[in-house]
Amino acid sequence: MDAFDLVVAGGGNAGLCAALTARQAGARVIVLESAPRFLRGGNSRHTRNFRCAHPAPTDVLADSYGEDEFLADLNRATEHEADPALSRLLISRSAGCPDWMRQFGVRFQSSLRGTLHLGRTNVFFLGGGKALMNSYYAAAERAGIRVEYDAEVIGLEAPDGRFQAAVVRKQGETNGRTEKVSGRALVVAAGGFESNIEWLREAWGSAADNFIIRGTPYNTGRILRLMLDAGAERIGDPRQCHAIAVDARAPRFDGGIVTRLDSLPFGIVVNRHAERFYDEGEDVWPKRYAIWGRLIAAQPDQIAFSIVDAKASGTFMPSVFPPKAAGSIRELAGLLDLPADRLDATVAAFNRAVRPGTFNHAALDDCRTEGLTPPKSHWAQRIDTPPFWGYPLRPGITFTYLGLKVDESARVMMTNGVPAANIYAAGEIMAGNILRKGYIAGIGMTIGTVFGRIAGEGAARHAGR
Ligand SMILES: Cc1cc2nc3c(=O)[nH]c(=O)nc-3n(C[C@H](O)[C@H](O)[C@H](O)COP(=O)(O)OP(=O)(O)OC[C@H]3O[C@@H](n4cnc5c(N)ncnc54)[C@H](O)[C@@H]3O)c2cc1C
Repeated sequence: MDAFDLVVAGGGNAGLCAALTARQAGARVIVLESAPRFLRGGNSRHTRNFRCAHPAPTDVLADSYGEDEFLADLNRATEHEADPALSRLLISRSAGCPDWMRQFGVRFQSSLRGTLHLGRTNVFFLGGGKALMNSYYAAAERAGIRVEYDAEVIGLEAPDGRFQAAVVRKQGETNGRTEKVSGRALVVAAGGFESNIEWLREAWGSAADNFIIRGTPYNTGRILRLMLDAGAERIGDPRQCHAIAVDARAPRFDGGIVTRLDSLPFGIVVNRHAERFYDEGEDVWPKRYAIWGRLIAAQPDQIAFSIVDAKASGTFMPSVFPPKAAGSIRELAGLLDLPADRLDATVAAFNRAVRPGTFNHAALDDCRTEGLTPPKSHWAQRIDTPPFWGYPLRPGITFTYLGLKVDESARVMMTNGVPAANIYAAGEIMAGNILRKGYIAGIGMTIGTVFGRIAGEGAARHAGR
């Protein structure tokens, strides 16, 4: 194959942002994407929005969202563990992203009403992440970027952090053939290792066997591993990830956004022993939905159940799978395979502890329990009105945080403290620089867009373009 200025490994948001940026600077670019064409776009194709600083209202963003406020939100969510310089860089460059994206045909829409209340802070993609990725791929084709699908990078020739060539295994029609693709620079944008159950097992033990992976099965962490083996410096903890509660009936991979359940704050959540284990009403759902994956992962057999009564219907987004519905708590226990006596006792104890209040699902209301462990701090209403609904829940892993340390030019840092000569990283594979723990909605796509562009700029410069 010809030599390229830039080889991009991974064709999601971060990879395409790097490729388009470098191409605009005149670089000859190839994107190697392990998925077939119709599954291209990785986890990015499941997304809906990204977080963006803006000093004044825009056509798609309400009010203003200053850089300091954005940084304060990020620091709160990550408990101040985000790299300060990279966070500042991320936030300051987020503001220019919507206009940059529009030139490639990306379109936005105002935020819909929904459970996550993001109209001021997040820009929504018209048609979702799938339309976003289709726009980028169409723009890449127009610009003359070469895209290889079914092309998994299985090896890297990069002595002393200097990229020379990628070893690629082709699937599909050219089943199993390997070839080398050489280039002057490499951008690794191949996601985390969330779909590699074996790697998850190293971090989580056998609990990982009960995890559901919300996104692409292609993010196996292979390139992350290759880079670490080649002497790149790691950042982050292998157990840290974004993980939410999903319907236990969701497919093992790629179920996307529709398997998320938002019923949790409006009822109780019990484990397989029919016992509550966390305050379901601790804070507003946008600030708490992303803790439930880890909470459920810590429960026996990594399963839990959201239980609500008829009063809760209409207060949360409809579920993709219908709830188990019953006329009594005992009957519901039977349908969910829970110990009936225990569930009855848990619901009765909860109901006794509920104090009178004015229910308001859209605010931190005064409906709470008293004398109950764990407490329910808001939206506590007696569970007494049939039909009673139950949803089985599993940890739904969105993406992992362990990744490659980078500098402010998105260059991969090597363990000897020196940046790699011509290797850049963007997106999930370096998200751990910002996200050691915690999450704020929309930051995944901001990280990919901003650092994808920075990586593309750097790689093109390196190639003399
Ligand atoms: C259901 C869901 C909803 C989400 N919603 C949002 C949202 O609304 N807003 C937000 O900010 N974030 C959201 N996220 C997180 C977001 O998807 C990621 O942060 C972001 O997409 C990461 O982009 P990326 O380009 O790094 O990775 P990806 O988009 O996953 O792209 C990585 C690509 O690399 C390819 N690849 C992997 N290994 C190899 C290899 N060895 N060789 C070649 N190619 C390889 C994969 O096929 C994939 O296409 C969501 C995630 C999921 C799963």
